[in-house]
Amino acid sequence: MTITDHAIAPQVGHLIDGQAVEPTNLRDHPDPGRLSTVAARVAIGTADDVDRAVRAAHAAFPAWRDRSPAERAALLMEASNVVAGSGEELAGLLVREHGGVLWEAQTDFMLGTGVLQHTASLVEEFFTTVELDDDQSYVRIEKAPRGVAAAIVPWNMPVVLTMMKLAPALATGNTLVLKPSPFASAALTMLLQKVAAVLPPGVLNVVIGDTEVGSALTSHPLVRKIGFTGGTATATHVMKSAADSVKNVTLELGGNDPAVVLDDADLELTLDRMLGGIYTRTGQICFAVKRVYVPRSQYDTFVDALCDRVANYRVGHGLDANATFGPLNNKAQFDRVTDLIAQTKSSGAKVVELGEKLDPSGWDDGYYVLPHVVRDTDHDSTITSCEQFGPVIPVVAYDDEAQALAWANDSDYGLGSSVWTSNPDRGLEFARKVEAGSTFINTHSFESLDLRMPFGGIKQSGIGREFGAAGMAEYVEEHSIRRLK
Ligand code: NAD
Repeated sequence: MTITDHAIAPQVGHLIDGQAVEPTNLRDHPDPGRLSTVAARVAIGTADDVDRAVRAAHAAFPAWRDRSPAERAALLMEASNVVAGSGEELAGLLVREHGGVLWEAQTDFMLGTGVLQHTASLVEEFFTTVELDDDQSYVRIEKAPRGVAAAIVPWNMPVVLTMMKLAPALATGNTLVLKPSPFASAALTMLLQKVAAVLPPGVLNVVIGDTEVGSALTSHPLVRKIGFTGGTATATHVMKSAADSVKNVTLELGGNDPAVVLDDADLELTLDRMLGGIYTRTGQICFAVKRVYVPRSQYDTFVDALCDRVANYRVGHGLDANATFGPLNNKAQFDRVTDLIAQTKSSGAKVVELGEKLDPSGWDDGYYVLPHVVRDTDHDSTITSCEQFGPVIPVVAYDDEAQALAWANDSDYGLGSSVWTSNPDRGLEFARKVEAGSTFINTHSFESLDLRMPFGGIKQSGIGREFGAAGMAEYVEEHSIRRLK
């Protein structure tokens, strides 16, 4: 194994009113790929820390709101340079606290940079004021920021998921208090300390912590907007808490994305492109491919070819250059995914374990799971109907296209989805009938993302959209003014 990047664990504290707070109440965060080592020591905040951060954001709001859209866009561009320039320094730490492989961490920084730049490029056009002037009246419709926004993010892609809230919130004149996940807060907070340095004090604040910090944010009377990404179960708490003071919420939640392979799909191309969508980030991506539907007549050919490819995967520490993917992020994740695999095995489905352990002697010192393919399983099995969030993929045979569509839509979730075909018209016709926030044709991975496409889910996958103008619209109110003549 060639891991050399095991630096001394940094100590990281909150960021309030432009100041890095001296870290106290520290918690050791183990490296999920080498549990016997500590990746970072992070401060765990309290409701008092949240209150100080929210008050700092509230004090900074009027001046930030009154900056012109062009000024805010220019500062976001500066922030994007900070993110782009920090990847090299911080991606290794992100690997050690998250578990994923290095290119995935670098992609997180790259996507985050792109979100900042794309949002900044749209701000001035977004703030175009509508004016209607006729014999009777003068009407003016303006967009106004909401005030203090709270962002709560998960651990799986912390940088880009943060920027998907930070960029639209700050671009539109809100100030922000962000809570990272305690499972990936060090590299993110260190990055945000650098970003905050190009902004006025109080515009961007960070309080690290658990549920106490999250609840204090969602219930704070001065918070007017919540941007949340995480699990659907947590989102129900966030919504209930926000309801008490009628806060606006944007929720980006879990998914159980179907990939439907039609009978005219090029199987080699489909597999080449779909594999990354299944196993990248060890399957811990909200819009990962989570269930595959294949025509019965092609089922064995498809699954055999899938298994042949997955057999080449090598699982190891994220800083091992030979690793295809790394360990799962945390113990709860590891227990949930390994229990699900055990339960699927006992259900009678054929569960195929593949791939190679890069460091067999260190295997039990991390949350490692080999890639699995579940064959001969049904649409209504547990593994097909839940969000597995791990490196295990069920493949289900279908008899006709109508059945495949019905099964694709038979879910409480509706985040991403894909259809695979060599006929563009057929693909588009099928895609339009899928119940999801996004449907991709012949792609379903990071490379499917296009910042011009609003991103979000329907049903229990969420409320609202991120990216671009749709993302900014979540952080403003329309203010209508009418003068009678
Ligand atoms: P999680 O719901 O456990 O935690 C998300 C965040 O909420 C964390 O910061 C957590 O500390 C915080 N939190 C927990 N309890 C809270 C409470 N009562 N009030 C306020 N905040 C609270 O999710 P996770 O395990 O960190 O992430 C995995 C989940 O996130 C998966 O379901 C995944 O699909 C989803 N996700 C969705 C998207 C998307 O864009 N739709 C993107 C990434 C991840």
